[in-house]
Amino acid sequence: MIKKIYNQIRSSLPQKYQIELSKFVFRITDKPFFVNDENYDLKKGIVVVSADFELAWAWRYSKKKINISEIAERERNNFHIIINRLNELDIPITWATVGHLFLDSCKRENGKAHWDMYRPNYFENEYWKYKYGDWFDIDPCGNYKSDPGFYAPDLIEIILNSKTNHEIACHSFSHCDFSERNSYSKLIDAELSECRKSMDKFGIRPVSFVFPGNLYGSFDHLKKAGFKIIRYKANDSKELGYPEILKNGLMAIHDSIALDVYEDGWDNNYLLWKYKKYIDKAIDKKAICHFWFHPSLQYKQLEEYFLPILNYIHSQRENGKLEVLTMEQLITL
Ligand SMILES: [Zn+2]
Ligand SMILES: [Zn+2]
Repeated sequence: MIKKIYNQIRSSLPQKYQIELSKFVFRITDKPFFVNDENYDLKKGIVVVSADFELAWAWRYSKKKINISEIAERERNNFHIIINRLNELDIPITWATVGHLFLDSCKRENGKAHWDMYRPNYFENEYWKYKYGDWFDIDPCGNYKSDPGFYAPDLIEIILNSKTNHEIACHSFSHCDFSERNSYSKLIDAELSECRKSMDKFGIRPVSFVFPGNLYGSFDHLKKAGFKIIRYKANDSKELGYPEILKNGLMAIHDSIALDVYEDGWDNNYLLWKYKKYIDKAIDKKAICHFWFHPSLQYKQLEEYFLPILNYIHSQRENGKLEVLTMEQLITL
């Protein structure tokens, strides 16, 4: 309710004042929220960046009207810009990659794509509505040249051949909902083992997992499949802090904020200011700031604040104030 009134007031102001009001509210509410843990005594602030790398797979069954092939194409184009800049600045990130992208190609068998895989039952969640057809209907059953939105062994090679030591993490095989409500044991086990198979060919054994749609669940399956760390927010008011160990022994690192928020009226200069505040406070508190993003973000976002934030991370690290780690590297912190 308060948020609604605030948004109404904010949107009635000229843009310049909207930004000033946002900055004022950000400051007086003491954002970003920091949760201390006395078990941790870091020498510096840490930044972790994770990318949900998925091309076309994340957007099918979306409740929003979107053009999937346009998003996949933009993600492929952005990928090169992003990884080049990361490598220039030597900023390693965690690429949480959809398992299907590791394939060169796939075929329709018995009339179906991936006929031997389990499928989710029909469901609806906050983002997706899957109520008809087959879960893999969108799969072109082609190859990475004919259908570059569905396969990406070429891009994965680029990550692996980078001088910077990026991490490749798991983001499920077909980008399905891992919550207990919309999945079942055999489906989750099949999704994870199919990822393992497709990643084995690249010599990758992922230890980090990022939930598709940030829809949490199936923690014990992840533990059983050998994952060590997940991106998971147990406490909503925690933006900066430290990893937690869950009951089943998995380590969980919260995310701090998405780097590709897109809301009407947001000014990219304001976002740049805000993201810098996250880094500054992580430095100040010697805590972890974990940014996550979709590489399909708009070109304007990329130019106006995403790449500048990478530059800022780089300069603060050069100043000796900050470390950059991947999710995997948090395990031994
Ligand atoms: Zn396929
Ligand atoms: Zn995703």
